[in-house]
Amino acid sequence: MENKTVLIVEDNDLNMKLVRSMLQLGPYQVLEAGDAETGIQIAREHLPDLILMDIQLPGMDGLQATRIIRKDPILSNIPVVALTSYAMQGDEQKATTAGCTGHIAKPIDTRRFLDMLAEYLEPGECQVKRL
Ligand code: MN
Repeated sequence: MENKTVLIVEDNDLNMKLVRSMLQLGPYQVLEAGDAETGIQIAREHLPDLILMDIQLPGMDGLQATRIIRKDPILSNIPVVALTSYAMQGDEQKATTAGCTGHIAKPIDTRRFLDMLAEYLEPGECQVKRL
């Protein structure tokens, strides 16, 4: 099976390292962005198979970034999975309203992370063809 490309948009270095290291255990190529604007730019350039989107970001937040992705004809079919904080009540609902495909709660359950991710990458959905 062809490797899937996952874009991580996350401003916290420790979270970025954790998510990257878990993805590298699976059949994933990893792209990284530390803010929403960079994330959208990288997404347009590389058309990842899935975007992991932190909500709290410097500048534009992950909710606004998701709304932009959903309205972008090139990016609109890419699953966006929000990385929501247990401490931030209501983030999951806000993420769904903004157009996120689902969410994974932080602190991340490292034993289940790859399984949760695979659910969002199951075939059958319209996968965006990578260049
Ligand atoms: Mn953050």
